[in-house]
Amino acid sequence: MRRQLDQILDQLTPVGRVQVAIWSSTPFFIIVLVGHGLALRSPEVRAGLHVDAMLWLQALILVCTMVNLVIGVRLWPRRHLPDPVDAATLAVCLSIGLAYTVITILAGTFTASTNLVLVGVLAIGLLLFPMRPMVISYVVCVTLLLLADAAVVTGWLPYALALTPDTFQGREPVWWFVLWRQFVFVTSWCVMLSLLLMLFSRLEQLHARLTRLSYTDGLTGLANRRRFMEVLAAELARHQRSGQPLCLMLMDVDHFKDVNDRRGHLAGDAVLRGLAATLMASVRAPSDLPARLGGEEFAIILPDTPLDAARQVGERLRQEIAAQAFRDVGDVGDAGDAGDAFRVTVSLGLIEVRDQGMEAALLEVDQALYRAKAGGRNRVCVAGERVGGA
Ligand code: GH3
Ligand code: MG
Ligand code: MG
Repeated sequence: MRRQLDQILDQLTPVGRVQVAIWSSTPFFIIVLVGHGLALRSPEVRAGLHVDAMLWLQALILVCTMVNLVIGVRLWPRRHLPDPVDAATLAVCLSIGLAYTVITILAGTFTASTNLVLVGVLAIGLLLFPMRPMVISYVVCVTLLLLADAAVVTGWLPYALALTPDTFQGREPVWWFVLWRQFVFVTSWCVMLSLLLMLFSRLEQLHARLTRLSYTDGLTGLANRRRFMEVLAAELARHQRSGQPLCLMLMDVDHFKDVNDRRGHLAGDAVLRGLAATLMASVRAPSDLPARLGGEEFAIILPDTPLDAARQVGERLRQEIAAQAFRDVGDVGDAGDAGDAFRVTVSLGLIEVRDQGMEAALLEVDQALYRAKAGGRNRVCVAGERVGGA
């Protein structure tokens, strides 16, 4: 249910959001208008109300509802379009906020439901609208409420403008009016608390999504350089504590520039994605971390792995990649080999990390990779060893 709601909210255009706000608040305003209307017709209830103030309140809610309805109907044909609708959004935020604010001032501002309405309006705003219109209308409404409270405290205004003192002085309450008020309060409590919970869950999801994005390489879905450096630092610290072996591998595609030049950039990208898939499939999850450091350079952190086992991983990877067939995609370079299957090879540098520290380890494994390139490519070279074999 929560996921479905989140999906719906994610798919909404700005106009769609305005529509949700309008068509969800309108029934509430209509209930209030009808309820107040009935109350004003009852002589018993009327005796406890300032009828003029109530009529002003009815007029204001009516105006706000009409403003929203007109905006709702006029924007309806554009509900699926991604156009920004800043002025309409501000008008809808303000009219909903003002209607709630004035209801609150007239019914008495020092109530728990007042605070709840404020928080709820904020939650609705944050869920549906961009920051600016929501904050403007929120500030306007809260300022009005604070001024009303200050006026009550300093004796400028009576508490609960629409209610006569009789209402508070032991009159027999009219049961259906009390029941109706309770219904409105309880419903607003429930709606607003659910909205707040939804808001927090969305913030949580957003945070998780941003964290995932900030650690992920956009093209291949592998860990990116930032994640790689963090995990490497953590694994180095663990290696120093536990003494367990730790290996680090760098992998660079051979003559990748040629792939781009001959097959086009899209084919190059497809190769990078294919290599990432091979990397993911051939390492031990979840302990090993394959990452794309940038361009056509990849790395794998292999915790708890002795050099010989890491060498086997590297060698197997090199062979699998050399046997992997790629196909051209639409955007083909000048040489135009569209439709051909082609292969790429990779060179790998490998190091078993000792106590040299992170920077030195990275430098040494980079030198091993350089030797693999210089030695003819398509091979694994181990830091500290003289010869790498293809
Ligand atoms: P070597 O065997 O010495 O590694 O040769 P190379 O051609 O692979 O090396 P070089 O570093 O000169 O070329 C790397 C190329 O990778 C250049 C650049 O156009 C390409 N490249 C970098 N990032 C991307 C990318 O995200 N997508 C694609 N398609 N190409 C990329
Ligand atoms: Mg390369
Ligand atoms: Mg390179």
